[in-house]
Amino acid sequence: MPGPLNLSFRRFAVLTKTLSFDGYRHLIPDTRLEENIVTLATEATYPYFTEEHLMFRETVKKFCQTEIAPHTEEWDEAGIFPRDIFKKAADLGLFGIRIDPKWGGSGLDWWATAAYLEGLSHCNNGGVAMGLMVQSDITLPVLAELGTDDQKEEFLAPAVAGDRVAALGISEPGGGSDVAAIKTRARLQEDELVISGQKLWITNGTRADFIILAVRTGEEGHRGVSLVLFPTDVKGFSVGKKIHKVGNLSSDTAELFFDNCRVPLRYVLGEMDRGFYYTMHNFQGERLAAAISAVFQMERAMEYAIAYGKERTAFGKPVGQFQVWKHKFAEHLTSIEAAKWLAYRALDLVNRGQRAVREITMAKLFASDLSQRVTYDCMQIFGGFGYTTEYPISRFWRDVRLHTIGAGTSEIMKEIIAKEEKL
Ligand SMILES: Cc1cc2nc3c(=O)[nH]c(=O)nc-3n(C[C@H](O)[C@H](O)[C@H](O)COP(=O)(O)OP(=O)(O)OC[C@H]3O[C@@H](n4cnc5c(N)ncnc54)[C@H](O)[C@@H]3O)c2cc1C
Repeated sequence: MPGPLNLSFRRFAVLTKTLSFDGYRHLIPDTRLEENIVTLATEATYPYFTEEHLMFRETVKKFCQTEIAPHTEEWDEAGIFPRDIFKKAADLGLFGIRIDPKWGGSGLDWWATAAYLEGLSHCNNGGVAMGLMVQSDITLPVLAELGTDDQKEEFLAPAVAGDRVAALGISEPGGGSDVAAIKTRARLQEDELVISGQKLWITNGTRADFIILAVRTGEEGHRGVSLVLFPTDVKGFSVGKKIHKVGNLSSDTAELFFDNCRVPLRYVLGEMDRGFYYTMHNFQGERLAAAISAVFQMERAMEYAIAYGKERTAFGKPVGQFQVWKHKFAEHLTSIEAAKWLAYRALDLVNRGQRAVREITMAKLFASDLSQRVTYDCMQIFGGFGYTTEYPISRFWRDVRLHTIGAGTSEIMKEIIAKEEKL
């Protein structure tokens, strides 16, 4: 039985990572784990990726490994990542992948987005990834699709260049799943909309320069919703407290208030009162990106778990050599591969301009639910150390929890699949 002295020394070794005395070498340094990681990526077997896609993925990966991953703990503690990351990401072309070069984009396909999302998983930080994805895949594609040339000139081009931060404001305190129930009201007064109401859970919300905002312009229900470009320097707009979350800690999530805010009518996106349909359509890209992102977060978590299983010994052998772990990981790797192919199947349809609501929804549901089980086991193999913040593994576990909630909950995904299948 260790005496009190042993216990306190052990705690000291754990806290300081001082590994000077052999008998108390309990922490496997992060750096050694990193060195032992064998990448799971099997790009050669995916025929869709060109040399350019793979080079792009490597660029994003390097950016994440050098500019983001080393700061994850610090930014998680701060509850936000530095704004200049938006600019650095933009300089690599991350916000304009599928956007017309006329607005500063690269005009590439969805496979380039998949390469980007895979690279992004190497930041080991769901919060930063989410903040960047809100810009790259959740807001700007909406603007690119619906915006007029004037709107694109004013909002899209500077956001692609990383000079303006964007957010999407759909959810409200009264409900997020039921988009048709939104209450934030926009009254038409001559050539302006006067907006009053509240939004909740808005990613990038504390520092967005503009928000693509869902407002009620017409009757109750899904026919009376419009999307409007909302610059956040408008009088009457305020940001409430930053919301403290259990995961994705580096991203800011905000409540927003609108008190008789006036925006010109020319900032309406697409047709008035069509906002519900636009939102449902835009959810497709968001959910596809979320599904792909979950797949690669799982892969990263598995890489850490496999590396740890090789390092950590118990009962005279590396714990990863016990059959229970080999089988568990073999099952997870098989399921991750299935999740990836489901997502790629959906992506392929979207890339060819085909309707893929069923496939995207299935991919999002499957990857989101699977990510809970995979990261649970990845954390479990770390034993007590998994329950600390010393290793990135607990961050993966925390961060993926959002997948079954954000961009539409798993229950809503099942509702959509049931509808698609006419059950
Ligand atoms: C970290 C974070 C970031 C977010 N970022 C954004 C953002 O940038 N912009 C934005 O607009 N929103 C954002 N959201 C909001 C998110 O989209 C919503 O939380 C989500 O859509 C669920 O809505 P809700 O929280 O209001 O839950 P509710 O809609 O109130 O649902 C509560 C529960 O009831 C279930 N439920 C609801 N309807 C049904 C049904 N028909 N059948 C069965 N079960 C049902 C749900 O699945 C859920 O389990 C974010 C949320 C979080 C947590």
